[in-house]
Formats: sequence, C-alpha cells, structure tokens
Amino acid sequence: GNGLMAGKRGLIMGVANNRSIAWGIAKSCAKHGAELALTYQGEALKKRVDPLAAELGAHVAGHCDVTEEDTIAAVFEGLRQKWGRLDFLVHAIAFSDKEELDGRYIDTSRENFRRTMDISAYSLTTIARHAEPLMSTGGSILTLTYYGAEKVMPHYNVMGVAKAALEASVRYLAVDMGANGIRVNALSAGPIKTLAASGIGDFRYILKWNEYNAPLKRTVTIDEVGDAGLYFLSDLSRGVTGEVHHVDSGYHVVGMKAVDAPDI
Ligand code: NAD
Repeated sequence: GNGLMAGKRGLIMGVANNRSIAWGIAKSCAKHGAELALTYQGEALKKRVDPLAAELGAHVAGHCDVTEEDTIAAVFEGLRQKWGRLDFLVHAIAFSDKEELDGRYIDTSRENFRRTMDISAYSLTTIARHAEPLMSTGGSILTLTYYGAEKVMPHYNVMGVAKAALEASVRYLAVDMGANGIRVNALSAGPIKTLAASGIGDFRYILKWNEYNAPLKRTVTIDEVGDAGLYFLSDLSRGVTGEVHHVDSGYHVVGMKAVDAPDI
C-alpha cells in the first residue's frame, strides 16, 4: 500500500479502551498504512481490545503484564514468529496506587514507590531490550510522559518521580540503541480524561486549569497526541532521538499563570 507508514509493523502496548492515548496513536498509524499488533493487560481488557484491534485490522499479540517478564517474552517471541521483525513500538503504560495520587508526595509508601517505578519506568527498559533483536534494521520506540516529571503538579506525586526516571531512561536508551539505528523518544501529553487519569485527585480541576492557562486555551485530544506519535514513529523524525516532545497546547512554556482565573 502507500502512505507514510506503509510497510511498517508496530506493536502498541497500553490500549485499555477507546479513550486511551495508545488508541489515538494506533488510529493515526493505521490510517497512514501501518500494520499493527496490540497487547492487552488481563482478560477484562481483552474484551475491550479485541473489537478495537478488529476495527484497525490489527493483530492481537496477547496478554502482557509488564511486572511479569514471561508475558513480555511471550509477546515478543510471538511477533518474532509472525513478523520476524518490528519497525516501531509504543509504550503507553503507567500505574500507581490511586490512594497515593492524592495528598502529599512525602506519604508515598515504599511498596507503592517500588511498584510505580517498576510498571511506569522500568518497563520501558525491559521492553526495549526485548524489541532490540527484532529491530535489526532500525526502529522507533515511543513512550508517554507528563509535565509532572519536570515540575511539581498537585496529586501527581510518585508518578512524577517515575516519569522523571522514564524521561532519563529515554535518553540512556537513545544512546544504547542509537548505533543500531533505533530511536527512542517520549511525548509529554497534556492532561486527557482516560482510565488512568481518573485515578488522579482533582483531575477535572487540572483539565480546567490547563484550558485556562495553555496558549491554545484548550486541552489536547488523543487524536492530536496520535498525530504527534505518527511523526516520531515514521521516518519524518529520522534525525531525532532522546527527545521529550510536549503535546500540551503549549502549557509548558507559560511561566506565570493567569490570576483572574474564572471560578473553576
Ligand atoms: P489508559 O488507562 O487508557 O492506559 C494505561 C494503560 O496502562 C492501560 O492500557 C493499562 O492496561 C496499562 N497498564 C497498567 N499497568 C500495567 C501492567 N502492569 N502491565 C501492562 N500494562 C499495564 O490511560 P492513558 O492516560 O492513555 O495512559 C497511557 C500513558 O499516557 C501512561 O503512561 C500515562 O501516564 C501517560 N499520560 C497520560 C496523560 C493523561 O492525562 N491521560 C498525560 C500524559 C501522559
């Protein structure tokens, strides 16, 4: 076929439903000719992911829980057998105990710190290692991060610390994999109402605050994040690696927020 992504095969991890950022990226890639595989986390989400995969003619690559190394290995072995190679990979996975995405960061428990870092930061590294042998002619890896890695955001807490580790991982992986022509980048998305975001305290307020203060005076959609993803996953960005690119209506450039905010 033709199109920007024609002949490219990619694995997308992190679709939970049709509001997922990973779904926005999947749609953009499919629209431009990519052949896709999707993983799901657990049987409950399989019911959501199966019809979405069918909508894009995507392969369902099976269950993957990033805390279980054997489920990761099984997915990549399956892709090796099916495709023999991989051109791109999307990591749109994060988790923290909802109880700790509220209140003070200082109260983070050791157990949830460990779990949040494992699922939200380390998983990118282990997935990249599994993908590397399938990307022998080069590839593009993309993860999702948030401004809470750079600046303190209310309630984001341990997830902000994990995103900082994730962004540093992007830079280290970019160096490790660059000589093999594999690029590693992150999109820093503005707040979007998804399943994961519903766990963050006062999320409605955060959306309103962004709408009021972002240069574009609105929040972003999964389709807009998806189209930015298309740039990173296609050859358009072939000279770019180790980058954290904001898709946030410009929110991150604003220093002083408006004082005359309406009652939000
Ligand atoms: P989502 O709930 O749709 O997606 C989160 C995904 O993480 C789900 O598919 C879930 O199954 C997966 N996941 C969680 N724990 C897992 C595990 N142990 N193993 C495998 N998968 C696991 O929400 P989303 O907002 O689309 O989140 C996708 C990414 O985007 C996350 O990294 C999130 O931090 C990031 N992000 C979200 C926003 C936002 O406002 N929604 C903003 C910036 C960045």
